[in-house]
Amino acid sequence: MNLDVATPGNGVLDSSSQHDPLKDGLFLNSVSKLYKARKGTVEALSSVNITSDRGSFTALLGPSGCGKSTVLRMMADLDTPTSGEILVHGEHPREARLAHHLGVAFQEAALLPWKTVESNICLPLEIAGQTVEKRVVHDLIDLVGLKNFAKALPGELSGGMRQRVAIARALIIDPHVLLLDEPFGALDEMTRHRMNIELQRIWGERSATTLLVTHSIGEAVFLADDIYVLSARPGRVIKHVKVPFERPRSAELLRSSEFHMLCDELSQVLFSHDETSADE
Ligand code: ADP
Repeated sequence: MNLDVATPGNGVLDSSSQHDPLKDGLFLNSVSKLYKARKGTVEALSSVNITSDRGSFTALLGPSGCGKSTVLRMMADLDTPTSGEILVHGEHPREARLAHHLGVAFQEAALLPWKTVESNICLPLEIAGQTVEKRVVHDLIDLVGLKNFAKALPGELSGGMRQRVAIARALIIDPHVLLLDEPFGALDEMTRHRMNIELQRIWGERSATTLLVTHSIGEAVFLADDIYVLSARPGRVIKHVKVPFERPRSAELLRSSEFHMLCDELSQVLFSHDETSADE
């Protein structure tokens, strides 16, 4: 398979040098993050470089604790890098957040249990003091497949449906950038597959540049244009893969040998690197 693969550290290109950060979708340049903990300092990320095109879908893949959520939180302006630079659509994360250019959804849908699906989805608009256009809300509810549940309360929904609400809520402000942190991590495998197909469709109908944090290799390969693989802590980019599969991708792709070959390749990168780190 002819994959465009960059492996920083082995002499192959650093892809960030070919990009214009002001035109890129996502741009992380030499980003490091240290946390102060009770027993000293935790080095969560070390010199991470990521670039993605506007409108593209990027997955950040890596073992638990490697710093994936830290990357996403910094892009969402929920945390700041210790060093390095982050731009989202050419803006500093703070500017992007204040301009309502960022939509974020986490593993826990975190819906307000006393509000209906419709009201939960409208919440970001209300907080921003913007008017709620009924038509826009209903179109979005249709888009995420919850047409008959607009008036339902979160307690009446399945886990997958709650995540659909969380994604719709992230999309209501029509963000430039959609940040998804393991949104399907708590779902069973079958629901997760279904949600992946749905997310691809939803992403295809919107133009948001998307970053998905996941530890599922299959999910990353099915959904992404670009996959960045992080090493165990401190997280460093150990592989960048451009996924060659055409869109729309169907459930059939999941059964193809090409799909499994790419998954195997990525799992080797992750596991061989884990073994090397364990030896160190
Ligand atoms: P991942 O999303 O890949 O599981 P995280 O980004 O959540 O990883 O965390 C990366 C590392 O940083 C972990 O070792 C975690 O314990 C540590 N960490 C995350 N947040 C904090 C914090 N606020 N204070 C101290 N350490 C933290």
